[in-house]
Amino acid sequence: MVDRLSAKRRSWLMSRVRRENTAPELSVRRLISAIGYRYRLHAPELPGRPDIVFRKTKKVIFVHGCFWHHHIGCRLATIPKSRTGFWRAKFSRNRARDAAILERLESGGWRTLTIWQCQIRDLCSLEKRIRAFLGPSR
Ligand SMILES: [Zn+2]
Repeated sequence: MVDRLSAKRRSWLMSRVRRENTAPELSVRRLISAIGYRYRLHAPELPGRPDIVFRKTKKVIFVHGCFWHHHIGCRLATIPKSRTGFWRAKFSRNRARDAAILERLESGGWRTLTIWQCQIRDLCSLEKRIRAFLGPSR
């Protein structure tokens, strides 16, 4: 019983850890601040609880880990060798959920940008994408 609870707790903690304030997300937030945009974090009332929110312009940015969100064609989107069927099903659910979230946001008038973990290494092109998405900062 104790073991089951602690396993549940551990998995809850892991899910929290990977949802918010991940290293890729922090890098994107630092970049966005550095180029002069103000944002809010984790709007709980919006579908999918977007990582970075620009209320006035109705734009949101998601920062996705390539493994958990299963970035198609990405070398970080590996499938674990054991329980392969379980992981494939899990990743396909994650992808379907992400797609449904974007649809709900966009039908509510929000514009969305998804930044993948593997795209953060190239800060220069990332900055260009973010500027193009957000428009003038003042
Ligand atoms: Zn990737």
